[in-house]
Amino acid sequence: MGNFDYDLFVIGAGSGGVRAARLSAGFGARVAIAEDRYMGGTCVNVGCVPKKLYVYAAEYGKGFHDAHGFGWEGTEPRFDWATLRDNKQTEISRLNSIYRNLLTDANAQIIDGQASIVDAHTVAVGHKHYTAEKILVATGGWPRIPDFEGREYAVSSNEIFDLESFPQRLVIVGGGYIAVEFAGVFNGLGAKTTQLYRGPLFLRGFDSDIRAHAAQEIRKSGVDLRFEVNVRSIAPDGEALRVTLTDGSQLQADAVLCATGREANLDGLGLKNVDVRLTRRGTIEVDEFFCTSEPTIFALGDVIGGIELTPVALAQGMAFARRNFGSLDQQVDYDFIPTAVFCQPTIGTVGFTEEEAQAKFGQIRLFKSRFRPMKHTLSGSNEQAFMKIIVDAATDRVVGVHMMGPDAGEILQGIAIAMRGGATKSLFDTTIGIHPTTAEELVTMREPWTKS
Ligand code: FAD
Ligand code: NDP
Repeated sequence: MGNFDYDLFVIGAGSGGVRAARLSAGFGARVAIAEDRYMGGTCVNVGCVPKKLYVYAAEYGKGFHDAHGFGWEGTEPRFDWATLRDNKQTEISRLNSIYRNLLTDANAQIIDGQASIVDAHTVAVGHKHYTAEKILVATGGWPRIPDFEGREYAVSSNEIFDLESFPQRLVIVGGGYIAVEFAGVFNGLGAKTTQLYRGPLFLRGFDSDIRAHAAQEIRKSGVDLRFEVNVRSIAPDGEALRVTLTDGSQLQADAVLCATGREANLDGLGLKNVDVRLTRRGTIEVDEFFCTSEPTIFALGDVIGGIELTPVALAQGMAFARRNFGSLDQQVDYDFIPTAVFCQPTIGTVGFTEEEAQAKFGQIRLFKSRFRPMKHTLSGSNEQAFMKIIVDAATDRVVGVHMMGPDAGEILQGIAIAMRGGATKSLFDTTIGIHPTTAEELVTMREPWTKS
C-alpha cells in the first residue's frame, strides 16, 4: 500500500466520484480526485440542479395565469431569459465551490485536468503521473446525438441551459426524461415547443397509463407533441433553422434540442491500456461491488449504465467507500427506487409498472383515480391528476405506485419508504389522509379498477 502515491485515485468529480472520494478519505484513505470540466459533475452543472431551477421558472408562468381565478388582477409579467440563465450560473458557481470545499475539508486532493489511465495502478493528468492502489472510474455519461444531415445544428442538454438568446420556437427530439422535462420548461417559459418522438407512445419504461395520461396533459399544456415521427435533417434558413421531419413536413425553429439518450463517457480515459471489459451497450462492466475485469480498477455511476440517477450514483459511491476503506460489506439495494419526471404536472413513480407486475406476480389488483386537483376548481385550468396503485393479490402488498399530479416527486418519496417496508393495501387503507391534499387520494382509493 505504502508504495503508491494514493490509496485511491478517483476519476471524475460528479455525484458518484465526490461521494466515494469524501467517504474514503473520511475512513483514512489517501485520496486524489481528478476533474477536467466542472466540480459536482452533470447533476450540479448541466443536470438535476439547473434543470429544476428552470422548471420552477417555467411553472411561475402558469401560476401568474392561474392566479386570476383567485382574484389577482393586472398584466402578466414578462420573462427575461438572461436573468434566469445568469442567476442560475451564479448559484451553480456557489455549488462548485461548496463541492471543492467538501473535498478539501475531507483531505481529498483535487487534481484539475483530464485523467487518463496508464496502467492498472497509474493515472496521468497532463504530464504528471500518479500511482494508486485502486482507481475508481466515475466519469458519468455524455449526450448522444444521432446521425442525420445537419446534426451539427442541433444542441444537447449540455448547451440548452446557456443559449445566448431565448428560442421562441424550439424543436425537441426524443421521448425520454430529458426531452419531456425540457418540453415543459420551454413551453412554460413561452416558447412555441414541438416535441418529436419516433415511436407510438413516449416515456418507454414507465407505466402505460402514466404514459397515456402524460401525453394528454402535456398536449393540453400547449406542447405540440407528435408521435411516430423523427428529424430527418436540419439546415440553416436565414437566422433560423429549417427542420425536415421523416413525414416530409418542415418546421422553422430557433433551436433544435436532441435529447436522444446518453452514452458512457470514456473519451481519453485510456481504457485500452488496461483490461477493463465493456458491456454491449458500451458501459463499463462491473460486478455488484463495482469491480471491473481489471482487479485494481473500479467503476460506478452513469458510466456503468443501469439506473442513471444521482441518488443511485451517491448510494454506489457510499457503498464503494464503505466496502473498500471502511471494512463494511455493504451492497446497494436497488429495490423500489422512486423517480420523478419534472414535467407539468410532475410524474412520480415507484415500483413495478402494471405490465411488469402482471408478469411477476400473476394476479394483481389495480386502483386508479383521475381527478381535477382542488386548486384548479378556481384557476380555470383543465389540468388533471392521475394516480394508480398496483397490488400483488396474493400478499396484498403494494408493488407499484404511479402518479402524475402536483408535487408527485415530493409525495412519492414517502410512499417509497412505506413500500420498501412492505406496506400492504390494507395499511394504505387504514392510514388517515391529510385533508385537503392531492396525496390523500392514495389512502382513499377503495374500489379496485375493473376493465369496463
Ligand atoms: P457525472 O455527474 O456525470 O460526473 C462525471 C464527472 O467526471 C464529470 O464532472 C466529468 O467532467 C468528469 N470526467 C469525465 N471524464 C473525465 C476524465 N477523463 N478526467 C477527469 N474528469 C472526467 N438525476 C436525478 O436523479 N434527478 C434529476 O432530476 C436528474 N436530471 C437530469 C437532467 C439532465 C439534463 C441530465 C443530463 C441528467 C439528469 N440526471 C438526473 C442524471 C444525473 O445527473 C446523473 O445520473 C448523475 O450526474 C451521475 O453521476 P456520475 O457521478 O455517474 O457522473
Ligand atoms: P432516455 O434514455 O430517457 O431517452 C432517450 C430518448 O431518445 C428515448 O425516447 C429514445 O427513444 C429516443 N431516441 C434514442 N435514439 C434516438 C434516435 N436515433 N432518434 C430519435 N429518438 C431517439 O435518455 P435521456 O437522454 O432523456 O436521459 C438520460 C438519463 O438521464 C435518463 O434515463 C435518466 O436516468 C436520467 N435523467 C433523469 C432525470 C430525472 O430523474 N428527473 C431527468 C433527466 C435525465 P426510444 O424510447 O424509442 O428508445
